[in-house]
Parts: sequence; C-alpha cells; structure tokens
Amino acid sequence: MGEILKPLKGDFHLTDYQSVYETFNWKDVSLFNKQTVNAAYETIDRHVEEGYGEKIALHYVNQDKREDLTFKEVQRQVNHYVHILRSNGVKKGDRVFIFLPKNPACYIAILATIRIGAIAGPLFEGFMEEAIKERINDCKANVLITDQTLGERIKTENIPTVATILYQETIEKAPIVEDHYVEWMDPGEGMLIHYTSGSTGQPKGVLHAHRAVTHHAQSGKWVLDVHDEDVYWCTSHPGWVTGSVYGLFAPWLNRATIVIQGGRFNAKLWYQIIEDLGVSILYSAPTAFRYLMAEGDLYKQYDLSSLRHILSVGEPLNPEVIYWAHRALQLRIHDTWWMTETGGHIIVNLPSEPIKPGSMGRPFPGIEVGILDEEGNELPRGEIGQLAVKTTWPGLMKTIWNNDEKFRSYFPYKGWYISGDLATQDEDGYIFFQGRHDDMINSSGERIGPFEVESSLIEHPAVKEAGVIGKPDEIRGEIVKAFITLRSNVDETPELKESIRQHVKTRLAAHSAPREIEVINELPKTKISGKILRRELKQKEIERQAIDKS
Ligand code: ATP
Ligand code: MG
Repeated sequence: MGEILKPLKGDFHLTDYQSVYETFNWKDVSLFNKQTVNAAYETIDRHVEEGYGEKIALHYVNQDKREDLTFKEVQRQVNHYVHILRSNGVKKGDRVFIFLPKNPACYIAILATIRIGAIAGPLFEGFMEEAIKERINDCKANVLITDQTLGERIKTENIPTVATILYQETIEKAPIVEDHYVEWMDPGEGMLIHYTSGSTGQPKGVLHAHRAVTHHAQSGKWVLDVHDEDVYWCTSHPGWVTGSVYGLFAPWLNRATIVIQGGRFNAKLWYQIIEDLGVSILYSAPTAFRYLMAEGDLYKQYDLSSLRHILSVGEPLNPEVIYWAHRALQLRIHDTWWMTETGGHIIVNLPSEPIKPGSMGRPFPGIEVGILDEEGNELPRGEIGQLAVKTTWPGLMKTIWNNDEKFRSYFPYKGWYISGDLATQDEDGYIFFQGRHDDMINSSGERIGPFEVESSLIEHPAVKEAGVIGKPDEIRGEIVKAFITLRSNVDETPELKESIRQHVKTRLAAHSAPREIEVINELPKTKISGKILRRELKQKEIERQAIDKS
C-alpha cells in the first residue's frame, strides 16, 4: 500500500511498543490483582478520594445549553441515583435498562446501577419501540430509567418483567439524598450488557464483568493516551459499546475531562465544539470522518489547534481518509479494531508508532492475535484467514445473555476466540482487515475483500461512499457489484461509471473492478455507528435477481 505515516513525537504514555509488547503482563496492573472491585467506584469515587474532586469531569453541550461538572459533582449525582435505585428495591444482579439521550444523566445512571452491583443495560437513543422491547425482554430487565420524551416509545404491556420505570425528570426534581453505598464485587461478576450492532443478524446481548476495567484503564492510557490536561471527546452514545467503554469508562478511569454532546452528527457543529471546548483527543467512526472529508475546506474556518490525537473504530478506515486528515488537519487518524464481545481494544495504532494506512494496527500489549485457517491452525504471515485472539484477556465478555450456545460458538478451537472477521498480518505484525467472513467475494476463484474495493472507489473524485458485494453469477460464482453514492454536483453517466471502473482496475486488479456499478441515494447502514449493511445490499440484489428470473 501507500506511504507509511511516521510516529508522532510527544510525551506519550507508551513510547516503545516492541519492548512493552514483549514484557507486559496484565498482572502488572494493580487493578487486575484486586480480590474485589467495583467498576463505578474506580471510575469516579476513587478520584474524589484521591483529591481530584474539583477537577472538571465533563463538559455537556446541547444546542445553547452548556454545563460543566466536577468529579465531586458527578459523584454527588451518582449518590443520588444510588439512593433512588436502592429505595426502589434494586439489588445486586438486577438488570437496569437505561434509555436516555446522550446527556450527563445517562452516564450517571449507568454508574449508579453498577455501583450497587446491578447490571446496566444502556440503550441507544435512536431505538424505537420494537428494538427496545426485544432487548429488554431478552434480558428480563427489572427496572427502566428513561425520560418523558423517549418514554413515549415504551408500552408497558410489552415489557412485563419491568416492575419499575423511573423518569429522569422525577429523579432530578426529588431532593438530593446521597447514598454512598458500594457493592464490592468479585471481578468475574457482571456489570454491563451491550447488544451488538446487528450487522450480521440478530443483535447479541454481550455481558461484561467488572474485571474489564483493567482492560479499559490500560487501553485508555496507552491508546487514547489521555493525560490530565486533555479534553477528550468520544462521539458515540453509551448505548453502544464504544460509547460506554471509550466514552465513559476508559477516559474517566484515567481521570480525563470528557465531552458529552447532545444531538447527532453535523460537520460545522463538530468543528465548532472542538474549537470552543479545546478538544484535544477525538474518537469517532469512519463514516463521520468520510463526511468531514466530503465537506472539503470547511475545517479552515475553525481553530482546531487544540486537537492532537484522533482515533477511529467500528468499520474499515479507508486510507484515503487517513491521507486527507494528514494533509488537512496535519494529524493522523489512529484506527482501532475490537468488538462488543472483546470488551476493549484488541488491535491498535499508537501515537508513538508508524501507521500503515489500510492496516488496523498491531495487537495491544498483553493480547495475542492469530490468523487461522478453517481447521484452526495458524497461517503464515501474508495469508488471509480468520482473525482470532488467544484466550483470555480482562475485557473478554463473560457470556452472551441467555444464549450459552452462541457464547460457545466463539470458541470452536482450543485456546482461541474467533472474531468472524477475515484478516492478514504482514511481516511487521500489522493486521489488515479483509471483510466479514460472510462478506468475502469469490469471483472465478479469486477471493476479493469488499473493503479494499470500497477504499479504491472512494479515491475517485466523484464517489462519496461505496458498498461492495458479491452478486451471484452463474458463470463466475459471484461478480463484484458496487453500490455508490455520488458527491453533490456530479451526474451519473455511462462514461463516469466506466472511469470509476477503470480507476479500480488500474489501482487494484482487473478481477477487483466492479462489473456492475449502481448509483443510489443512500447506503443502508446500521444506526449511529453507520456501518454499511452489505448483507442488506446483497439481500436486495438476490431478491431482484429472483424477480428478473420469474
Ligand atoms: P453484529 O455482531 O450484531 O453482526 P457488529 O459485528 O457490527 O454487529 P460490533 O460489535 O459493534 O457489532 O462491531 C464489531 C465489528 O465491527 C467487527 O467484528 C468488525 O467487523 C467491525 N470493525 C470494528 N472495528 C473495525 C476496524 N477498525 N476496521 C474494520 N472493521 C472493524
Ligand atoms: Mg459482530
């Protein structure tokens, strides 16, 4: 691939990846060795006890509203929620679902639930009736915390196990009573349940244990590289695992000041927030970066000089986007790979290390990654295989709720966790994403990863976004078909399509060039994280073929 981006210079927490990778052991982290632990206590209360109560814990911005809270003030509100939950009879092991907008109360409710030993189930604010119902019933939740607006999407008769619904407005109106109770937990006991994004099928309820905070804290330190003076902004809602692990736990375990932004993506607003709040670290997703890139020179209207570190997660990060940020913002985007099930970073790019655009990075210290064949044997470097992680590590899920069979299916070979993704690893240890196991295209015997083709497509000046699938074909098995959206002011013509095809052909290979290109208005995506739903594109294509045939 293209040029390697040099490591940054700075006062980073981890400066010598190779030697740390060789010597690091989770047992070196004091948090790991605790007999009893409480994730919520470690996240907030400990800092207050250690004398950092007056430090700003969060900046909340929502339209004209702006609120800043210190760690002491966050703790006070958590104490209040603890009181409310306990006086409603909530106890260890209960499932408390939290359906709130991205606001401080959402973060506080999660922490209060966990501090009393109950299991927090944060739900994305974009969910509608059916999605909420499914998740709550799968978990047999006991309690729901919501607000008046989102609460309208809930029909009590649909969620029979929920005995109590608490409204944010009511909780906040009640006189503050501080309850300092902490339930000390065995590190293996559950604290948090997150449903996966549903990119490949039914979302799975992934249960995480308190021990995961070791993973959160250590990756927060090394990968997010948070320091005391940083203003850290993770744009994900805590209803997704990124929004809780890297939006709440990892930064706060490291005592960072975080930004909570109400509302959705808007390029101008995002740049404005960075300028106004002096954001120094930004963690977001490829879709957001692609949109910023499509806005062109807009960034020039803002003072973004506070920004020093950018990270990405959730789907493949196209090299073109990395080069754009490097040119425009003079910053690299650090890709990270992990899954709801892994509970924390597995493959990362560190600020002190070179980046190979197109690669997700290298394994996090204390974690060993393997590329396996279909029998579970490790493949030589350079070959495409199943991306697997050697068991075990602190963030690894405890189980899939209510589905032990599914849980066991992640471990088909002794000693390995199987991700469901395909990847290759090069001689330097860098890992390159190839696609989901099920998304791989097989055309005339050639295996083609959709991501590489998509990245090549969006290099073309006319293309905004691309989703690539294998379309069933009687002769070739499958052919490469691309669905694209065009940049504004570009018209669809046969010549344009041919020029796009030629672009991929000359950059990648003849067999990778899409035989069919279809221009659409919008790509189907999972909510918020904006992952391209290739499964849906393919399903529609197969249905259309069936109609054509009949
Ligand atoms: P479901 O499991 O319900 O089908 P999902 O796999 O999208 O949904 P998540 O746990 O949110 O749910 O996402 C994890 C997946 O996201 C990974 O398996 C991988 O396919 C993709 N992913 C995450 N980070 C990256 C990355 N940096 N590069 C490429 N793909 C990534
Ligand atoms: Mg998945």
